[in-house]
Amino acid sequence: MIEVRNLQKAFGDNVVLRNISADVERKEVLVVIGPSGSGKSTFLRCLNLLEVPDDGTILIEGQSIIGSRNIHEIRADLGMVFQRFHLFPHMSVVDNIMLAPIKVRKWTEEKARAKALELLAKVGLADKANAMPDSLSGGQAQRVAIARALAMEPKIMLFDEPTSALDPEMVGEVLAVMKQLAQEGMTMVVVTHEMGFAREVGDRVMFMEQGVIVEVGKPVQLFEHPTQERTKAFLSKVL
Ligand code: ATP
Ligand code: MG
Repeated sequence: MIEVRNLQKAFGDNVVLRNISADVERKEVLVVIGPSGSGKSTFLRCLNLLEVPDDGTILIEGQSIIGSRNIHEIRADLGMVFQRFHLFPHMSVVDNIMLAPIKVRKWTEEKARAKALELLAKVGLADKANAMPDSLSGGQAQRVAIARALAMEPKIMLFDEPTSALDPEMVGEVLAVMKQLAQEGMTMVVVTHEMGFAREVGDRVMFMEQGVIVEVGKPVQLFEHPTQERTKAFLSKVL
């Protein structure tokens, strides 16, 4: 589904991704872990071209996306959820979710509304359709952000620390929505510090440090039998 080869990215002298190669299979959940500054967000942002790679290739369903003229189509297929929710503050919850399908997918208002209400029910917020974003809790706002990304019917969902900005009691409700999505077969790349989620929901876990992939494996293997000293050192701090 996603094939990344020899991805390189620097900001000035700061080389952030050094020859990253990775695959994500259809319906797979790849969890990305690693210390702050290791390049996790930059890797994710390269996948939907929020950052332009300096070198390397990214294929999505066999098609090279770098230098593609259809950048908007590519982005429409990759839903992204950030640490901060970025809901439009002046629009109701349902209008936030309907906006992109109407503008980008050219759906009718009726179709977009039906889809938005269906997704709100799915994330447990059917009663919040007409609420304004600032009346929501952090966990509710993040679930709306997930619904908004799903409204575009993306092929892949990218999550960048979606629970890091939440109060602890709200983390679970967001992870539960993500887990359900995974069980439904969504292809997902998830940057997170939630090791319980990585272990339970991840098909594979990728440990990054200083712009390289140190180790990738099934959760049991990576958490219980890491082969690299650097992985062991990191896990000893976070587990
Ligand atoms: P964190 O866990 O703190 O989110 P991360 O693993 O996501 O860290 P990145 O955000 O990818 O790390 O950053 C990797 C490096 O790239 C850091 O040194 C950061 O300062 C630098 N960097 C990221 N984005 C930019 C940018 N737009 N301009 C300049 N430098 C950047
Ligand atoms: Mg980051």
